[in-house]
Amino acid sequence: MNIAENLASIKNHIPNEVCLVAVSKTKPNELLMEAYNAGQRDLGENKVQELTAKFEALPKDIKWHFIGHLQTNKVKYIAPFVHLIHGVDSFKLLKTIHKEGIKNNRSIPCLLQVKIAEEESKFGLSGKEINEILNSEELKELTGVKVLGLMGMATNTENEQKIKEEFIQLKSFFDELKSKDNPIADIQILSMGMSGDYELAIECGSNMVRIGSSIFGERHYV
Ligand SMILES: *Cc1c(COP(=O)(O)O)cnc(C)c1O
Repeated sequence: MNIAENLASIKNHIPNEVCLVAVSKTKPNELLMEAYNAGQRDLGENKVQELTAKFEALPKDIKWHFIGHLQTNKVKYIAPFVHLIHGVDSFKLLKTIHKEGIKNNRSIPCLLQVKIAEEESKFGLSGKEINEILNSEELKELTGVKVLGLMGMATNTENEQKIKEEFIQLKSFFDELKSKDNPIADIQILSMGMSGDYELAIECGSNMVRIGSSIFGERHYV
């Protein structure tokens, strides 16, 4: 496993304007430093405790992406430093992030998670719910948070056609929101694509991919 080589080979496959988030969850700091020394600055984690520990230990110019399911009572731990929260799946969570943003004198960048997959277990908002949030008067008051786009995860399947349909559907919803020129939300980021499907996601219009195992190797959960 050579992390620098893996990163170089992925970068060769993706256009410059696509942001690569290296998903380092479960991996030890030494491996994160290998990515860092190869020039990688955007790293993604999905557990609050693991993220804060890594933030404390590692260089301060790392841009930390939170890509997991975030509980409202844990927002405070990452609010001071998180670069982008990908998985906002309720208005309540957005309001909590706003409050913590205000406490930290910042406006925290967020993506709304869209439920595109079929699985019942996947978190996320429907298109209708997202429109309601983006059109609500209340969002204008939430100056501690900044909605910058959408995040989605395709169904976990071997069926490439199915995945492609879901990506196309998400991209078209993204384009629709973007064209509305919402004065409060600045819709510009579409986070979709992981190790197994990032090339397809980029073909379908993704501009941010979250890649873990193809960079750091398979994860072993204990
Ligand atoms: C773990 C994870 C990834 C990366 O998955 P790989 O298949 O290892 O690339 C991407 N997005 C989210 C939300 C994840 O939890």
